[in-house]
Amino acid sequence: MCGLVGNLYVHFPFCRRKCSYCALYSRAGVTQGERDAYVRRLADEIDKLGQTGFVTLKTVYFGGGTPALCNLGVLAPVLRPLCGAKTEFTVELHPLDVTEAKLAELKALGVNRISMGVQSLNDAVLADMGRGYTAAEAARAFALVKRHFDNAGIDLIVGYPGDVESKSEGEVEQVREKFLSLSAWGLKHCSVYSLQNERGLKNVPDDDVVLDQLRHIAVCLKALGLERYEISNYAVPGYECRHNLAVWRGEDYVGIGDGACGRVGLKRTKFGKEELVSPEFDQKERRLFRLRTREGLDASGHPEWERILRKYAQKGLLTQEGVIFRLTERGTEVCDSILAELV
Ligand code: SF4
Repeated sequence: MCGLVGNLYVHFPFCRRKCSYCALYSRAGVTQGERDAYVRRLADEIDKLGQTGFVTLKTVYFGGGTPALCNLGVLAPVLRPLCGAKTEFTVELHPLDVTEAKLAELKALGVNRISMGVQSLNDAVLADMGRGYTAAEAARAFALVKRHFDNAGIDLIVGYPGDVESKSEGEVEQVREKFLSLSAWGLKHCSVYSLQNERGLKNVPDDDVVLDQLRHIAVCLKALGLERYEISNYAVPGYECRHNLAVWRGEDYVGIGDGACGRVGLKRTKFGKEELVSPEFDQKERRLFRLRTREGLDASGHPEWERILRKYAQKGLLTQEGVIFRLTERGTEVCDSILAELV
């Protein structure tokens, strides 16, 4: 019988055009011929995996960039032997990718989970981002996705200039209304990220405005039946992203493609380069990220972690159950500084 033995991330570095806020590695204006050659190269690399012990993949994640700009059907012959009935197979979609034909192509490939990058429900913000659709068009695209894929969710960005500028009652009410309009979408998953502003956008809202908005969004998503299971991720119970959970739980994952990261044993890959890390670094990396999740960090065997974590528990930022420490709501807002102290 086949075991579930691996996680695979595949990166597609092509976009229609560059969004105003995006600092991810991706290129716009690439020819179809170049994209086809890239996918053929991916097919060769995935094929090699089949010969190196990946009996059945537990999760596959196609991210980008914009995977749907490529002819993904080419990957079917090499992926099919590696996927089983229980493989979670996610593809990131841009709302402009969503057509009956593209969804049929994804179904035929074995995809069973869609993550659509909506980013905002504010038309003026969407236009400024250069996304190329309105909130109503995104809603229609998502409705079409849902006709083919029950397991579907969206990504949103908080803190974009001009979205929410203050903590006034009026603005809070606007956020609530926008988010409650999502009740009609049938979301199974929602990722909510605060803008990192790596592109130096002007007039970004203050941190406390962003934090306040994130708190309101958490309340709205809970009202829609989505539970927070990681700092930035919410899901209807049972619909958590198994690929991302595998990464946060410290499992191995293979990264293929120009901008992909991977972790297999002590080997790390990033942008096609490989390096070996020490066993100590490896252990820390695999264990510490669990603090981001609802499951919490098990500090057993690490009295130095326990000392630091207890200090934060006393401040109300963590809860403690034996040697398991979990973030409180307030703790989710300062997780990065707690992790920085533990590393
Ligand atoms: S479509 Fe996605 S990856 Fe491409 S530029 Fe926009 S945000 Fe970045």
